[in-house]
Parts: sequence; C-alpha cells; structure tokens
Amino acid sequence: MISGLVVFFKVLGIDKGDKLCYNVAVRLRGARRKGQAMGKSIFETETCSRCGGSGHYSYNPMYGTTCFKCHGRGYVFTKRGLAASQFYTESLSVSTADLEVGMYVWDKFNGRWERVESHDDDKVVTNHCQYSGMRGYTWRRKARDDDELAEKRAAALAYQDTLTKAGKERKRRK
Ligand SMILES: [Zn+2]
Repeated sequence: MISGLVVFFKVLGIDKGDKLCYNVAVRLRGARRKGQAMGKSIFETETCSRCGGSGHYSYNPMYGTTCFKCHGRGYVFTKRGLAASQFYTESLSVSTADLEVGMYVWDKFNGRWERVESHDDDKVVTNHCQYSGMRGYTWRRKARDDDELAEKRAAALAYQDTLTKAGKERKRRK
C-alpha cells in the first residue's frame, strides 16, 4: 500500500518539499527501516534457525517465500550482536535540535540519506524534504568520514566483547 503510494507520487514527479515529504515527516516515527544493507553484519550473528540460512521459507501471502525471522538475510544477531548493533546505532544518532548543516540523516521511510540544509528544534530541511513536527525525534546519521566510521565500529565491537552470551554487561569482580 505505502510503497504503491510512493511510486504514484514519483510518477507524478512530486519529490522536493511537497506532499510526499509531508507524509514522510508524519510517518517517519513509526516507519520500518527500508533499504538496509543485506551484507553480513560486522557484529556477532548466527545462522537463522527457521530457514537454515537460505533466507527462504514456505510461501505465505504476506512475506512470499522470504523468511520472516531473518527477513531473508539468512542470519540473525546473537544477543551480544544485537546489543552491540544497538550500541553502534545509538553512537550515530542525533536529535533534531542537535543536527548540523551538512550532516547526512537517514530517511527510513524512503530508504535514503538526505543532507541537512537547515533546521531548528522542530523543522528540518534536507535536499529532499521539509520535515516539521520533528521535535525530539532521533535521527540516524552517517559517519562524517571513514575515520569516524572506523572509530564507531571499533567502539561497538569493543562493547560487544564486554558482553556475556546473554547480551548483558559482565559483572566486574573486585
Ligand atoms: Zn531465516
């Protein structure tokens, strides 16, 4: 339904600072992440127990043959890997008020990076959209450069190493 609507607006050539973007702002908060990389994660994963790693399972009308446990990836995060992945995501998160001009933020509704052109506490203008009502919203941002990316990844992997198999921080003995 939603992707049909997106295609409809794209066919009409509506894209910049318009109705589609308005809808995006309204829907961003609840949207599921789209266009995520399908490659192997850098964090700890295990073979999906449902599909055995193929990414496919018996057909159903909602997902087709795509395995819904792993979303077709063939692997799932272990508890440690999931916690580390969340740690990583949080380390590259920024609230609307703390955005900076030139930063790239993720539009999870359209599945694309957008460059911040201006913002205040509530409104954000990117090279694609004008968002309003974004007070308190947490954006996923792109690392500034390869160095920052490497640094954030290393920090999250180091964090993963501190976790037990259950994904909890190890208690330090005195
Ligand atoms: Zn699976």
